[in-house]
Amino acid sequence: TYVVTDNCIACKYTDCVEVCPVDCFYEGENTLVIHPDECIDCGVCEPECPADAIRPDTEPGMESWVELNRKYAEIW
Ligand code: SF4
Repeated sequence: TYVVTDNCIACKYTDCVEVCPVDCFYEGENTLVIHPDECIDCGVCEPECPADAIRPDTEPGMESWVELNRKYAEIW
């Protein structure tokens, strides 16, 4: 899955939301979030983010971001 990280804070450009083929972006508290179970790992959103906030969860240290994305995505 891909996750939204702290560079998204107070950004909320929605270029990423528009390109996602499965509509798995949701509104978080200070950021957008990606639902980790709905993301199909296509990667098209990553280059669309002007703040470079979208990262694959295969990068080190992403566990807490996955949990935060899940927490806010599951509210909806
Ligand atoms: Fe959506 Fe693809 Fe980005 Fe996952 S990687 S959030 S499916 S655009």
